[in-house]
Amino acid sequence: MIFADLHLHSRESDGQFPPRKVAGLVSQAGLGGFSLTDHDTMSGLKDAAAKAHALGLAFISGVELSCQFRAREVHLLGYGIDPSDPRLTLKLGEMAAGRRDRAAKMVAKLNELGLPLDPAKLNQIAGHGTIGRPHLAMAMIEQGYVTSVKEAFALYLGKGRPAFFPRPKLEPGAAIELIRSAGGLPVLAHPGLVRDDSVIPALVELGLAGLEAAYPQHSAAEQHKYRSLCSRYHLLVTGGSDFHGPEIKDTPLAAAGVSRAEFEALTALKERNR
Ligand code: AMP
Ligand code: MN
Ligand code: MN
Ligand code: MN
Repeated sequence: MIFADLHLHSRESDGQFPPRKVAGLVSQAGLGGFSLTDHDTMSGLKDAAAKAHALGLAFISGVELSCQFRAREVHLLGYGIDPSDPRLTLKLGEMAAGRRDRAAKMVAKLNELGLPLDPAKLNQIAGHGTIGRPHLAMAMIEQGYVTSVKEAFALYLGKGRPAFFPRPKLEPGAAIELIRSAGGLPVLAHPGLVRDDSVIPALVELGLAGLEAAYPQHSAAEQHKYRSLCSRYHLLVTGGSDFHGPEIKDTPLAAAGVSRAEFEALTALKERNR
């Protein structure tokens, strides 16, 4: 029985809905709690927490940090971070600036490819938070260049496609330290998508606190394997849907999550670490 969905995006990064609306959807889905885990930003946490409180939902703050480890993309979730932590705020500000530079390069490349994006439209789509490729994809759809976000990635925006540029990423050791110094617990997001389980013991050495074992794209066997690894390394089990909203990604909210006991284990460890 899923009590909380611990992996949700709002339009403060590349989700479709504002943070308060995400909280409303969590309540409508019949869940008891959630975390908001926008990419490289904490700007939605205040609104999400306020709406969670109004709706009687349990809430834990979150963020999803983009890291690079041994040439692989690794995402770290930080749970229970203090949204006003100065060091984390500063680093996220740098990353947001890096994302803006990278988006400008991708827009210039699309322009060269004969697919100019209207800056006003792009700004309207991305203007709420950290800019990412899904925003470029939405603008491309609006201008009739592609018919879906998937198609935009497959043809232009995905790694190795003609308009791709990488964005700044953190070292996982630095990300783990940053999350911990902001009072949070670092958790490896969707380990099944990393496709290299040897990163897990390496991240444990660096201070990892949990694995996102429950994830929509994990098979039953993978989920079982990650739960076993959590026991072996004394890690928290977390889970969430990675919901972005139906226009951006087709995974529904609450497609994965944690039980009440798992949620309480997370909040209890966070309290002990204060
Ligand atoms: P960015 O953070 O700008 O590098 O963009 C990555 C985001 O794009 C991810 O968080 C997903 O939401 C989305 N994404 C990545 N790959 C795809 C894909 N093949 N199709 C649709 N969306 C994708
Ligand atoms: Mn995303
Ligand atoms: Mn991710
Ligand atoms: Mn995510």
